[in-house]
Formats: sequence, structure tokens, C-alpha cells
Amino acid sequence: MSEPSIFTRILRGDIPGEIVAETERVFAIKDISPQAPVHLLVIPKTQEYRDVTELAAGDPSLLAEMVEVAKGVAGGDFRLLFNTGASAGQTVFHVHAHVLAGGLGEKSLVGA
Ligand code: 5GP
Repeated sequence: MSEPSIFTRILRGDIPGEIVAETERVFAIKDISPQAPVHLLVIPKTQEYRDVTELAAGDPSLLAEMVEVAKGVAGGDFRLLFNTGASAGQTVFHVHAHVLAGGLGEKSLVGA
């Protein structure tokens, strides 16, 4: 068994973190260091998948459930971002989606 991730510890209540939405398999929290007016993290309760490529291969329906939860918590249009790999900025290896929304403007991140 691997060490509990920071997100697992939040889910268990071992460390503080505001859970803003929850389903049987997924939960959402506010990012501690927001990069947009709305910056939430949508996370599977299992930490068995390190990143979105593992999750997509191992449990596509769980990935779809994360997208559904992201849509619900965003409250409108949103960006969904999965940092995948350390050199792409991933720091927590328990797959999670960043939901960014609110005042982003119409400009795409790509080419911005
Ligand atoms: P990554 O860099 O792996 O894509 O994203 C990890 C995210 O987790 C970062 O945006 C970081 O701000 C957030 N984070 C790290 N530690 C905590 C914490 O203790 N609580 C919350 N709510 N977010 C955290």
C-alpha cells in the first residue's frame, strides 16, 4: 500500500480542505493556491491512478464521472486541465483535474 496522498488525507479529514462536492467515487476541493477566480480540483477517491493516462486506460467511466463533477462545480464555462508528469508541472501523483473558471476571458490558453 502506498502512502496516502495529500488528497487522500484531505478526504479522510486528516488535514484541512474544503470539500465542495462529492459523489460515491469523486470529490472536489478548492485549490489552496488558486490560479483563477474559480480554481477547484476534482479528484477520484481512489489514489490508484497516478495521472489521467492511467485513469483513462484503467477506468474510463471514472474519468467521465470526474468531467461530470467538474461541470457541476464550475457553474458555467470552464477549463479542465490535467498536468501529466513532473516536467509538465504535476506535483501530486494522485490523478486530479484542475477546474478553472470565472473571468478567464475568451482567449485560449494555447497560444495565449
Ligand atoms: P499539480 O501541480 O499536481 O497539477 O496540482 C496539485 C495542486 O494541488 C496544486 O495546484 C496545489 O496548489 C494543490 N494543493 C497542494 N497541496 C494542497 C493542499 O494541502 N490543499 C489544497 N486544497 N490544495 C493543495
